Amino acid sequence: MPSTKEILIIGQGLAGTLLAMELRKAGKKFLITEGRLPHSASAVAAGILNPVTGKRLAKSWEANKFLKYARETYQELESLIGKSFFRETRLLRLFKDEEEQKIWKKKKDLAEYKDFLGKRYQECEFKDSLKDRHGSFEILNAATLDVQTFLMGARDLFALEGSLCEKKIEYDDISIANDIPKYSGKAYHKVIFCEGFRVGDNPWFQHIPMESSQGEIQTVMPGTPLPEGIINCGKWLRPLGNGIFQAGSTHKWNDILSAPQKEDDDEIKEGMKKILHHVPTLIRRETGIRPASKDRKPVVGFHPQKPCLGILNGLGAKGSMMGPWMARHLSDVIQGLTQIDSELDVRRYFN
Ligand SMILES: Cc1cc2nc3c(=O)[nH]c(=O)nc-3n(C[C@H](O)[C@H](O)[C@H](O)COP(=O)(O)OP(=O)(O)OC[C@H]3O[C@@H](n4cnc5c(N)ncnc54)[C@H](O)[C@@H]3O)c2cc1C
Repeated sequence: MPSTKEILIIGQGLAGTLLAMELRKAGKKFLITEGRLPHSASAVAAGILNPVTGKRLAKSWEANKFLKYARETYQELESLIGKSFFRETRLLRLFKDEEEQKIWKKKKDLAEYKDFLGKRYQECEFKDSLKDRHGSFEILNAATLDVQTFLMGARDLFALEGSLCEKKIEYDDISIANDIPKYSGKAYHKVIFCEGFRVGDNPWFQHIPMESSQGEIQTVMPGTPLPEGIINCGKWLRPLGNGIFQAGSTHKWNDILSAPQKEDDDEIKEGMKKILHHVPTLIRRETGIRPASKDRKPVVGFHPQKPCLGILNGLGAKGSMMGPWMARHLSDVIQGLTQIDSELDVRRYFN
C-alpha cells in the first residue's frame, strides 16, 4: 500500500488547476507544481465557451453536458477564490455567405440546437460597425472565462494552503517501485501529468499521438463602438473592456515552437477585414500551444502498466468548456466512484 494519500499534479494550466480543485473539493490531499514554461496554452487562451462552431455550424461534442458542468464549477470557484472570472456572454455570429444562412435555417428547428441558436438579425442590421451584409444570429449559452485571473486566483489559494510548488519537475527525479511513485525521495499516492503539449517529453506518455497546434492571439483596439459581446465570423473579437479586444486566433501545426510570424498577423488581419470596416490597431501579439490528441478527444486515465501514473491532457481548443467535466471525471475515477470513460481513456493509445 502507498505510504501516502497525497497526489502530485504536474502543471498548473487549466487541466491541472481544475483537477486540483476537484480533488480539494473531495477532501483529497495534493501538491500541484508549475514550472512557468514557455508556450503554455492557458497563459494566452481567450477562454471562450462557444457551443456552435465552424462553417457547418456544428454543435460541439456533448455541449449541453460540458457547458452545464462548466458553468456550475466556475461559479462555485468564483465564490471560493473571491474573484470574478466567468461571464455569460452574448455571441453574435455573422453569416459568411448564403450557404451558411441555409445551414442555419435547416438547423434552427432541430431539437438538439434549440438551446444554442438564437435570434436572427437581418442583413446590414449592424452595418455602421460590422460587415454583416449576409446578416447574423446569436449563439445562445456562450460564455467567457478569464483564464489568467482564474489561474492566478487558484495559484494564490494553493500557495496559502501549502499545496503549491513553483518548480519545473524533471522526469528523472520521479521513480516508481511497487507501483508507488516517488518524487525527490517523497512517496505519493499517484502522479497526474497535466503538462499540455510537453507530454511529448514525458517518458511514460510521450508516444501518445499529439497534434498540438500553435495559436496566435492579439490584443487590439478597433477604435469604434461595436455591438455588445463576442463577434465571430471565423475569426473573432472578444471584448476586454475600455475599447480593448482580443482578436484571434490562428492554428498552425508545423513549427509550433517558432516566434509569431508575419503570416499569422496577416491571417488575423484578413479575418478582421471580414468583420470590421477597418483593421484594428494592434497592441500585443502572443502565442501558445493547444494540446490536442490525434482523435481530438481529451486524454484521461492511467498508464496500463504503471497505474500510479495518470494523465489529463488533450483539451485542444476547448479547454474552458470541457476541462471542468474532465477534471471531475478523473477525480471520480481516482476516488473509485466510477470507471474511466472508454472514449477518453488514455489506454486507447497503448498497444
Ligand atoms: C491562442 C489560443 C487561444 C485559445 N482560446 C481558447 C478559447 O477561447 N476557449 C477555450 O476553451 N480554449 C482556448 N484555447 C485552448 C486552451 O487554452 C487549452 O485547451 C488549455 O489551456 C489547455 O490547458 P492545459 O492545462 O492542458 O495545458 P497548458 O495550458 O499548456 O498548461 C500546461 C502547464 O504545465 C506546465 N508544465 C509542463 N511541464 C511541466 C513540468 N515538467 N514541471 C512543471 N510544470 C510543467 C506548463 O508550464 C504549463 O503551465 C486557446 C489556446 C490558444 C493557444
